[in-house]
Amino acid sequence: MTKRRFIKAGSLEEAVTLLGTHKDDCALVAGGTDLMVEIHKGSVTARNLIDISRLEELIFIREEKETISIGSATTHMECMEHDIIKQYAPVLSEACSRVGSPQIRNRGTLGGNIISAAACADTVPALIVLNAKCLLKSAKGTRELKVSELITGPNETVRNSDEICTAIVFEKIPEGAGYEFIKLIRRNSVAKSRLTVAVIAQQDSDKRVTDIRISLGSTTPRPHRFTSAEELFHGNLPTEDLFREAGEKVSADMIAVTGNRWSTEYKKPVVEALTARALRAVLEV
Ligand SMILES: Cc1cc2nc3c(=O)[nH]c(=O)nc-3n(C[C@H](O)[C@H](O)[C@H](O)COP(=O)(O)OP(=O)(O)OC[C@H]3O[C@@H](n4cnc5c(N)ncnc54)[C@H](O)[C@@H]3O)c2cc1C
Repeated sequence: MTKRRFIKAGSLEEAVTLLGTHKDDCALVAGGTDLMVEIHKGSVTARNLIDISRLEELIFIREEKETISIGSATTHMECMEHDIIKQYAPVLSEACSRVGSPQIRNRGTLGGNIISAAACADTVPALIVLNAKCLLKSAKGTRELKVSELITGPNETVRNSDEICTAIVFEKIPEGAGYEFIKLIRRNSVAKSRLTVAVIAQQDSDKRVTDIRISLGSTTPRPHRFTSAEELFHGNLPTEDLFREAGEKVSADMIAVTGNRWSTEYKKPVVEALTARALRAVLEV
């Protein structure tokens, strides 16, 4: 059995130094809900576990003039319950409320959910429609990457081993914008998503669509917005035909990336139906 050291970082600076010192032989522990499973499976062999779960510098939700910043070690429960998130990013509040069980939401963090980069991570599609960025800090400095650039595939990111995700930042959703988050699961509790749909949209006083953002989880290896479906709506009045067409565009984009797989026969109609359902819920005809 591998002997491991559990090191409680006293500050963000110390965590950054420890990461730089132990390089590939260390792993950050936030909530530990993914990491402990990976250690148990033997897929994480790092001997130095650096605990960042109590670092106040990583636990916050802040409202700036136009943006919201969330510390990476903020839990799903804290995000879900916070008035600022409910007001300016309700799609994220809803996504966090659908993660696992109360126990998992109380331990699991937003940063951990992003960096684990599971295809079924519930917060990711919500963060994609928010155009969220992650701040990554190392001893060399700080860089900023969109979540859609950071995650490159299932359980893959371009985070360097000496970097800590410190915060997630996005612009506030304008007042009056609608949102929908759908999570398709096999059973009613503590279940991984089979599919998630996140949509944010805004219409003018004539009901023409002025802004629309669509993202689906568990559809493509790399999370992104389905822009060809979004383009159908720009400046137009929503109709049932457009909802159906948008669903077809999303499934066509998914198949263009993944090819026809064993699951496509099931996923294609489900993607089309759930996309149309989410659009119908958000847009006033
Ligand atoms: C029973 C169960 C049910 C679950 N259900 C769901 C679900 O319904 N939906 C869902 O989306 N997820 C679910 N999960 C997955 C999990 O809870 C989330 O992915 C969680 O958000 C991970 O956060 P964490 O703080 O626990 O991360 P950890 O396990 O501590 O870390 C995960 C990975 O990210 C790295 N990391 C963590 N924080 C940082 C950081 N700040 N900077 C750089 N790297 C970092 C760690 O080193 C590790 O590699 C479930 C897990 C379990 C065990």
